[in-house]
This record gives sequence, C-alpha cells and structure tokens, in this order.
Amino acid sequence: MEADTHLIHPHLPLDNTRRFIMDKGEGCLLWDTNGNDYLDATGGLWLAQIGHGRREIGEALSKQASRLEYFTSFWDFTNSSILKLIPTLLELVPSHITDFVFTSGGSESIEAAIKTARYYWYKKGQPEKNWILSRRNAYHGAAYGGGCASGFEADNFGLGPLVPHFRHLTPPHTYRSWLFDGQDPVDFCIAELEQSIEEIGEDNIAAFIGEPLLGVGGMVTPPEGYWPKLEAVLRRHNILLIQDEVVTGFGRTGSWFTCQRYGVQPDIITVAKGITSGYMPMGAAMMRKEIADTVREGIGFPVGYTYSGHPLAATAAAVNLSIIKDEGLVERANTIGDYLAAGLHAALDDLPVVGEVRHAGMAFGIELVKDKQTREPLEPQVAIADEILDEFHVVVRCTNPTIIVMSPPLILSEAQADRIVEAVSTVV
Ligand code: PLP
Repeated sequence: MEADTHLIHPHLPLDNTRRFIMDKGEGCLLWDTNGNDYLDATGGLWLAQIGHGRREIGEALSKQASRLEYFTSFWDFTNSSILKLIPTLLELVPSHITDFVFTSGGSESIEAAIKTARYYWYKKGQPEKNWILSRRNAYHGAAYGGGCASGFEADNFGLGPLVPHFRHLTPPHTYRSWLFDGQDPVDFCIAELEQSIEEIGEDNIAAFIGEPLLGVGGMVTPPEGYWPKLEAVLRRHNILLIQDEVVTGFGRTGSWFTCQRYGVQPDIITVAKGITSGYMPMGAAMMRKEIADTVREGIGFPVGYTYSGHPLAATAAAVNLSIIKDEGLVERANTIGDYLAAGLHAALDDLPVVGEVRHAGMAFGIELVKDKQTREPLEPQVAIADEILDEFHVVVRCTNPTIIVMSPPLILSEAQADRIVEAVSTVV
C-alpha cells in the first residue's frame, strides 16, 4: 500500500518491507486486508485483555461520542464519565491507592510519576532529592524521562543529552546467572541497591522505578523475596517506590495488579494498556493519599495533559473493567495461563535451544540459548517470530535479544493455546 511509505514505523529497519495490514478483529483473532486470519498471541502490544471487537464497547463509545466527546480536565473543569470511572477503579486498585492523574498512555503516565516523585520531595522541602533509580533492560516508555529510566541503550541512541540523575541497577534476571557474581540474585540486587544509595546519598534520591516483572526485557519474573526486600530498603532510606504496571496491571498476571502478587505497596503505580484493553488510549499515575495531597497543595500539581480524563477513554475503561470483572478474566489469566504454560513446558523444555520457559498468569517468556550449559543467549533471530507468523499465522515477538514474549488476550481458549504451542514449538 503506497500510503504505508509515509509511515515511520518504530523499530523497523528500512530494508524490511514486510507488512501485515490488519483490518478486523474478533476475540483472539485478527484479519488482514487480504482476508487472512491470525491468532493474536501478543494481545496487540501486551494489552488486549478482553480480546478484539467487543460490541459492548463500540456501542458505549458511540453513545458517549454523541453526548460529550471531550471537555478539558484542567482548572476547575472535569466531566461526568471520568467521575463515574473513579469509584470502579477504587474498588479494584490496591487499597492504599486513592488518587489518580489520568493520561493518554504508558509513557505519559511514567512522566507524571517521575514528576510527582520529584515534586513531592520539593514540596517536602527536599528539592535535591531528584535522582531516580531504575534497572537495565527495563522499559518505561518513549518520552524523555521514561526513556532515561529505561535500560536499553538502543532506545536513547542518537537522541542527544539525556535527562540527568538516573542510575540503572541489575535486573533480577536469575536465568542469566553471570549477572550476580556467583551470589544469590536477591542478595546481590539488594547489596547493589544499598551501595548505590550510599554513593548517591539518600537525601538525593527521589524514587526507584521498576516493572513488577520486566516485560519488554523478556517477561522476567523476579525471584521470591526480591520486591519485599527491595521495598524494605527503600522505606528505610525514605525513597519512593514507583511500580510500572503498564503491562502487568488489570489482570495480566492473574491478579488485578502484580504488586499484590509480589506483596508490595508501591507509592505510585503507573498503568495504561489493559485499563481499556486498547479500545481507547488511556493511562494513569495512581498514588497514595499523602503523596496526592502534598503535590496538589498550594498552587496545584504542575503536570496536566489535554486528554487527561478523556470522556471516551473513561467510557471504554468502565466497560472494559466491567467485562474483566463479570467474565472472571483475572482468575482466567491463571487457569488458561497455567494451561498454556504446561503445553509450552511439555513441548519446549527438552529442546537444546530452549533455556527457560517462564510465565506469570498470561505473560510468557521463552529464553532461547546457544548452549544450555553456559546459558549464552542465541544471537538475535527475528526470523523465529517471522516464521511463526508466516507458517502458523500466530503473532509473537522476540526481544532482548532472543526471548520469545507473549501476552495473549485473557479470553484465549484451550484450542487456541494448543495452536500457540504447536506453532512456537515447531518453529523453535
Ligand atoms: N511502561 C512499560 C512497562 C511498557 O511496557 C510500555 C510500553 O510497552 C510503556 C511504559 C510505555 O507505554 P506507551 O507505549 O503506552 O507509551
């Protein structure tokens, strides 16, 4: 299609001219403009919890668009749709979370969270507390603050000076055992954190930001005890904990929020994606009351977006969340996730190039290696995802550098899970 030559595709080398022009979706299936069907094992971009083409959302959006498509949430204005969504959210989010900054997506939510943390300390009379601790192989969006928090060099390559005062620590990627100098991974990460705090000074650090499990980094699930120990260190040193639940929120890993699964209470939680299952762009930085009260006190919070609390996004979120609740999709993420994981383990564990198959609910990572003994990663093999797509019409991705990652809709059927196992295991 000629129009496509005018699109700048993210992360697509110019010599790659493959295009799949998606035109229609229903449940876990997609159709391209030539009528070919595909099984969506990535849930779009890690978000289609309730699947594609839900009429309930289409109808609600149509009604809302003809009633009030938009009005600003700046100054003394708001709108009835976003106010209707808030009680629903308060029922679902961890009970210590009470206040929200709404955004248009994940990257804006991260910016809001980082600015909230820095501004909080400014308002508390500690403006020098502005360092942000993060981790290598973390992904926190494509804006400048989040981009600097992210731990992939390629994402900042050629972009000029970065935002100062970010430090990247070791991710708890236990399979890559060489990262931990022969020590227990949790002990290593905690000691490294303590040492960084000592070097930078706790009076200079605003927050630690981390995904509960590293998504783009390869669906890396943390070892037992990692988060509670890390949280305890941060509390002791008066450093805020921001958890980036843009991928892991709203049922993806088998609990509403993954911080609940790992037993921590972040001060700020960023969300997007699953809040609307992609039916409208939306995100939020959600926080506990004392932080919210501190940043809105006096002249008010200095961060706002034109589309904060957009009525159509709020409508899509309300219907999406009621579908997730009514259809028991958070529980289903566990049952169908375990079913798919069992199939993947049975088909893949003994293959010489498969190092580890891991999952939490419906987030999956399959680590491919040159050698099972040394655990050395296989060279980048975009061809694996391409072949799974071409031969089996199943959409998966490869990341960091050769981890197959998947996050199918939570409504996936057992037959569709079997189709994923067959496609992945045959090509691998
Ligand atoms: N945070 C995480 C953990 C993500 O995985 C992403 C996107 O994949 C983002 C933030 C950025 O979200 P968005 O692409 O909606 O700006």
